[in-house]
Amino acid sequence: MTPDAPAADRVPAILATLAELYPEPRCGLDFETPLQLLVATILSAQCTDRRVNLVTPALFAKYRTAADFAKATQKSVEKLVKTTGFFRNKAQNIRLCCKAIVERHGGEVPGTLDELVKLPGVGRKTANVVLGDAFGTPGITVDTHVGRLSRRLGLTTHVDPVKVEYDLMPLVPQPEWTTFSHRVILHGRQVCHARKPDCGVCALNDLCPKVGVTAPTSPPTAVGGLTPRPTRTPKAVRKPRAAS
Ligand code: SF4
Repeated sequence: MTPDAPAADRVPAILATLAELYPEPRCGLDFETPLQLLVATILSAQCTDRRVNLVTPALFAKYRTAADFAKATQKSVEKLVKTTGFFRNKAQNIRLCCKAIVERHGGEVPGTLDELVKLPGVGRKTANVVLGDAFGTPGITVDTHVGRLSRRLGLTTHVDPVKVEYDLMPLVPQPEWTTFSHRVILHGRQVCHARKPDCGVCALNDLCPKVGVTAPTSPPTAVGGLTPRPTRTPKAVRKPRAAS
């Protein structure tokens, strides 16, 4: 297989390689209910999952239902989500979204794309996250990583996330849409960085036309090999002191 083969021919090998690299991908946001995932995903815009996971325990302890969020004051929600950035907009979106959930859906987060994208502040990206990770309905989430890697891999030429999603849908088997999104996001964070993709050690090197990549940063010493799977930086392990 060469990088200039048609996308449809390369995708099975790309999927298999990603599955080997990231066998058990999961959503990076902590949640227990569809409502919590919806709120956490709204907060994750322009913010890391880690930061969101720091603020949501207190938020979800104070507001347990959509009605709780709908009745909350703007200031009280702002105060709890301030560190996620764009906090005024996010607090307002959460409150308005929850108000609509109460008024239109009896307080329960709806489980279809059509209904979700009609909620204030909820776009296709947020809706697909909720569908895929809270309801088990496959969805392709096109965030900045999925968009960037899809273009570099030659799976789309589009920048618009909705057009990227529509290009990916016929290429990736539907049952794999959610896991594919998680795996591509992980690969974007760990290897195919926005500014300096590590093409030289990337396991997808042989399959990737590297569209738009001008400066790979690592030597091609491990071309075709699987990169390590550093899900988290391990903490230093301190040796126990010898008994005195
Ligand atoms: S790191 Fe390089 S080879 Fe790997 S997916 Fe990104 S652009 Fe392609």
